[in-house]
Amino acid sequence: MAWKTLDDVEIKAKTVLIRVDINVPVEDGKVTDDTRIQRIIPTVNEVISKGGKAILMAHFGRPKGQVVPEMSLAQIVPAVEAALGKPVTFISGNYAESVGALSSGDVALLENLRFNPGEEKNDAGFAQRLASLGDLYVNDAFSAAHRAHASTEAIARLMPCCAGRLMEQELSALETALGTPKRPVVAVVGGAKVSTKLDLLSNLVEKTDHLVIGGGMANTFLAAQGIDVGKSLAEHDMTDTATEIMTKAKTVGCTIHLPVDVVVARDFKAGAENETVAADACPADAMILDAGPKTVDNLEAVFDQCETLIWNGPLGAFEIPPFDIATNAAAAKAAEQTKAGKLISVAGGGDTVAALNVSGAADDFTYISTAGGAFLEWMEGKTLPGVAALET
Ligand code: ADP
Ligand code: MG
Repeated sequence: MAWKTLDDVEIKAKTVLIRVDINVPVEDGKVTDDTRIQRIIPTVNEVISKGGKAILMAHFGRPKGQVVPEMSLAQIVPAVEAALGKPVTFISGNYAESVGALSSGDVALLENLRFNPGEEKNDAGFAQRLASLGDLYVNDAFSAAHRAHASTEAIARLMPCCAGRLMEQELSALETALGTPKRPVVAVVGGAKVSTKLDLLSNLVEKTDHLVIGGGMANTFLAAQGIDVGKSLAEHDMTDTATEIMTKAKTVGCTIHLPVDVVVARDFKAGAENETVAADACPADAMILDAGPKTVDNLEAVFDQCETLIWNGPLGAFEIPPFDIATNAAAAKAAEQTKAGKLISVAGGGDTVAALNVSGAADDFTYISTAGGAFLEWMEGKTLPGVAALET
């Protein structure tokens, strides 16, 4: 797959429509985490420093095609201005007139695109209305690329287009990890349920050499082997599926690693009294809340043998210490190997990123994707409409 980037297009004197993801958390009218805003700055600065006008297009919340004043992007403008260090013109109402009044080097932000029902319907008419405002379309919103919306899909087919710097960075990190990775490759998949990650597991089995299964979903795999997991979170109706995944892994030569020891407790709460037992010895009245130290040792040995790591899903109930121990230990090991230049490590997923940030390991990973759903769909091997539309 190939995309144009900002290196391949002429920007001087052009009006550049940039799709960004600035769907940031807001409390009492204030942005509480501006990570997403910070990440779009390189693209915006590049466009204006090359003499273009930058028109930012974005969504905020789920207004479902109606004007919902609490979901206006106007409240995000001060945070974007602070991050850019210059004024941003907010445009609602008559797009064409306001865009026409801008000069080279100016930055504007359009009102929440999802106020218009055409956006989420990938409506050609709405896409055309947006496209008519500019000369070039730049998509810098990988995290919205799993949706075929007017501003992510249809518009790219109507005008010259390319990937922004953040999109480019995300695509190249993902390509390095799963497209044409250095082998062997290990995938770590954890989290709560097999049922939410079925497509993920079956794609990873085909593409990786080692698959480490942890978290609640490992309980389902243990149960599939006839092991009693007591009161653990497990999907007993998914045991056939788990068996199929294990069989497929054998056929394609992917080694699955399940916990050999586990930390069990009677209460799902921070500081709950706990003990470490063999994976097949969970007491009937207890639940598995984390992987044990032998499992972590095994996992570290797998990391040592591998060149590439891709990770989604914590290994235990990391929100309630001490059941974060295995996740933190594995994260620290991956960070250390990465720092030493021995491992390429890519991780994503809401809870995974939270866990890696808390553990302090995130900074040393090769790449942390903040894309959520788009990252997962990409790991599932699906085509992302917003990415496909950019292909040359
Ligand atoms: P992500 O958001 O990174 O994709 P998930 O949402 O799939 O990850 O999984 C995270 C959740 O899985 C966390 O809330 C964590 O507490 C839960 N979890 C992990 N292991 C267990 C376990 N053994 N028992 C219960 N919940 C678990
Ligand atoms: Mg989650």
